[in-house]
Amino acid sequence: MATGSKSRLGQRAIVIGGGIAGKLAARVLSDYFNEVMVLDKNKESDQTSLRSGVPQGSHGHALLKSGEDILEDLFPGITNELLTSGAIPSNFSKDISWYHHGSWKIKHHSDIQTLQQSRPFLEGHLQRRLEQINNIHFIYGAKVSTILTNPDKTKITGVTYRTNFGVIKEFNADLIIDASGAATQTPKWLKQLGYPQPEKTEVKVDLFYASRAYHTLSPIEKDWKGLLIYPNPPGQARGGGIYKIEDNKWMVTLLGYGIENPPADDHSFLEYAAALDHPTIYQAIDRGKPSSEVSIYRFPSLRRYHYDKLKKFPNGLVVMGDAFCRIDPVFAQGMSLSALEATALKEVLEKATKNRSLNQISQFAHRKFSKLLDIPWMIALTEDFRFNHTTGKRFLGLPFLQSYIKKVVTASATNKDVYETFIHVLHLKAHPVKLFSPKVLKAILFKKVATGTSSAHNDHTIRT
Ligand SMILES: Cc1cc2nc3c(=O)[nH]c(=O)nc-3n(C[C@H](O)[C@H](O)[C@H](O)COP(=O)(O)OP(=O)(O)OC[C@H]3O[C@@H](n4cnc5c(N)ncnc54)[C@H](O)[C@@H]3O)c2cc1C
Repeated sequence: MATGSKSRLGQRAIVIGGGIAGKLAARVLSDYFNEVMVLDKNKESDQTSLRSGVPQGSHGHALLKSGEDILEDLFPGITNELLTSGAIPSNFSKDISWYHHGSWKIKHHSDIQTLQQSRPFLEGHLQRRLEQINNIHFIYGAKVSTILTNPDKTKITGVTYRTNFGVIKEFNADLIIDASGAATQTPKWLKQLGYPQPEKTEVKVDLFYASRAYHTLSPIEKDWKGLLIYPNPPGQARGGGIYKIEDNKWMVTLLGYGIENPPADDHSFLEYAAALDHPTIYQAIDRGKPSSEVSIYRFPSLRRYHYDKLKKFPNGLVVMGDAFCRIDPVFAQGMSLSALEATALKEVLEKATKNRSLNQISQFAHRKFSKLLDIPWMIALTEDFRFNHTTGKRFLGLPFLQSYIKKVVTASATNKDVYETFIHVLHLKAHPVKLFSPKVLKAILFKKVATGTSSAHNDHTIRT
């Protein structure tokens, strides 16, 4: 798949971390470098199983439409492959029942058609496609510990890594991508090299996820493939969701903000589900058959590094994915942001190819990534600051946005045009300015009700 005819930017690129961001970066780099090495500290090469380096893999992962479209661009035919291997096709507003701020969204056929699958299933398919690209090589059990530079420390020239047997090895490279997720060591490496630290924005949310897979759900009538019961802040900090995934399984995730004790066993899992804003998740699982134990993941803070603002940064190092910004997972944006960043990386590499130089590649890439992040970051914070315990820097206009979005959410219960616009924004397929279009404004201001679609769906009585 690598374009052998293209003039290359360099001999070797190294990607630190083989998660989603690292995989997508490797795919893009394979068109510009003779060799791409992906180093991951994980032991296993079987990417379809849960990996210790990606503990969030056992929790519900939804891929937004924007992310899915980019995967299809980078790996033509992958959507069909996922589908034929068992991913569940889902029309977002028709197949997902969503209870949000106290009302059910109106059901209609949307043009947002997505696939539902577990994260290991998705990663496994990406991995198999990458293994068909002959200039990409994966090295497992390779924990990158330091970065190497030229004598005046202006350019990164390689990495050293520790193998599972404790042996230290090194690789030289023309470009290094840090895609090591939450464990990123770039700030530490910058400090060691005498560079200034990046500004860091942190917003503390104290979120937890508790997830388990189910073989079967309770024998109830379901008109959904996915069910979302969102928290209703400030009063209700609990939420959850159910997603049908591959192998005829259901992924059930319960979550909570600022709650000290996540439900970690059978009894507390059910008890917690029963205390959500709406009983549907509880009713769907109380007679279900779990196929896994409950996994817990704690997500203390959203964290964003402003590498884009640094005046001094060594060339040849680009930070992306969760290593650049970790966003509240409830909005399912992380993997799609990595995909958007991969597209931005491609643009930067294309420009570098024209200029025949990798100079300033880091600055160009970080600036693009930061711009891409502004909107998802704002979407997440608008909701997260509804909780009283959330702490961190608020942005200008937050109270207005919170009040307006609540009106959009309320209108999404009865007006399919408003809901359709809302989900295009959430799937990062439309700019939020669309939420202020005359059509949406009119619907909100004059409380215009359903355009042609019955809201009979909104009867969520569970029939057994
Ligand atoms: C609970 C939870 C639920 C989520 N749900 C969603 C969702 O529904 N939708 C969505 O789009 N996103 C979701 N996300 C976010 C998503 O998981 C990430 O944003 C996305 O996968 C990008 O991750 P990454 O590749 O940057 O990092 P990771 O997936 O964390 O991968 C980092 C990799 O780097 C490796 N590594 C780390 N340090 C080193 C080192 N020193 N040397 C070598 N290798 C190293 C690790 O082994 C790992 O493989 C969720 C996150 C969490 C925590």
